[in-house]
Amino acid sequence: MPKSNVCQPRVKKRLPLIRCECGAEILMVPDLEVMSNAIETHVREHMQKEKDPAQAEVVAERIRDELIVQVLKKASASPK
Ligand SMILES: [Zn+2]
Repeated sequence: MPKSNVCQPRVKKRLPLIRCECGAEILMVPDLEVMSNAIETHVREHMQKEKDPAQAEVVAERIRDELIVQVLKKASASPK
C-alpha cells in the first residue's frame, strides 16, 4: 500500500495578526508608524458606520484601545 501522498503546501511561518471585534485582521508589522496607520485606518472604518459623531468617538476609542492592547501583548510575547 502506498502511503497517502497528500501534497501539503509548506506551512509558512505565521505572521502575527491582531483581530478586531468585527473580525477584521490587521497584519502586525515591525514598523510602528505603519502599524498605527493601519489601526487608524481601521478605526475610521468603524467611525464611518456610526451616524452619531459622539458615538463614533466612543467606538473609535474602544476599537483603538483593543487593537493597541493586542499589539502590545503580541509584541511582548514574540521571541526575538
Ligand atoms: Zn473592526
